[in-house]
Amino acid sequence: MAAPAILALDFDGVLCDGMREYFESAWRAYRRLRPGAPPRPPAGLFARFARLRPLVESGWEMPVLIHALRAGASRASLLRDWRPDAWLADLAATREAVGAALDRVRDEWIAHDETGWLASHAFYPGVIERLRRLAGGPVRVVVVTTKEGRFVRTLLARQGLTLGDADVYGKEARRPKRTTLLELVAGGDPTRVWFVEDRLRTLEDVKREPALAGARLFLAAWGYNTAGDRATARNDGRIVLLTLARFARTLSAWVTY
Ligand SMILES: [Mg+2]
Repeated sequence: MAAPAILALDFDGVLCDGMREYFESAWRAYRRLRPGAPPRPPAGLFARFARLRPLVESGWEMPVLIHALRAGASRASLLRDWRPDAWLADLAATREAVGAALDRVRDEWIAHDETGWLASHAFYPGVIERLRRLAGGPVRVVVVTTKEGRFVRTLLARQGLTLGDADVYGKEARRPKRTTLLELVAGGDPTRVWFVEDRLRTLEDVKREPALAGARLFLAAWGYNTAGDRATARNDGRIVLLTLARFARTLSAWVTY
């Protein structure tokens, strides 16, 4: 097994747990849509939101999930059949309006309290140590994320890790992760690129790209995915289901059973 030349890592749900930030931003956006809601979320709502967050594909669905939970939808029914558009209609809102509210409250939070916003992110146990061991080594580590690159660099810098501008492909890159991986391969050997991501759909999208056949794909079991996603990955000939314990070990241990 050849070691990778490039290790591409998703950020949220792989390196960093942004659940506090998701929930707080979603709650603030929900309150813009439902001004009668209390300033602080009811006890227990965070935990219920966190368990169902893997269902969310786009940001606008997060305030909608809060609405569904506030309306009394059960965890089991939402897990079985998450219908964001139906709940959106129940909220009497549009995707655009919810998405805009979410962007606005996030921008305001960052503008007024960037330190607090950054502090609502937590790196998963062992991740920073793992990245430190890779730093300066032969493997080029890049972050491929839908978060803005500057926030990724700031969050990593707070942990004493510096990634170059060229090694963070953030939201501003405005292209699917599949396209970023193609650029990283750049006509070279795709088997030398390894990609760790917590969203199964993103890995499935990469799988459909012929020029990326051979790139190693890992689903981060500790991230925002469901038991169903993990079962799919376990039975997938291409995708490797990676645990956080294995992530912390040497790269060769990721693919050795
Ligand atoms: Mg992710």
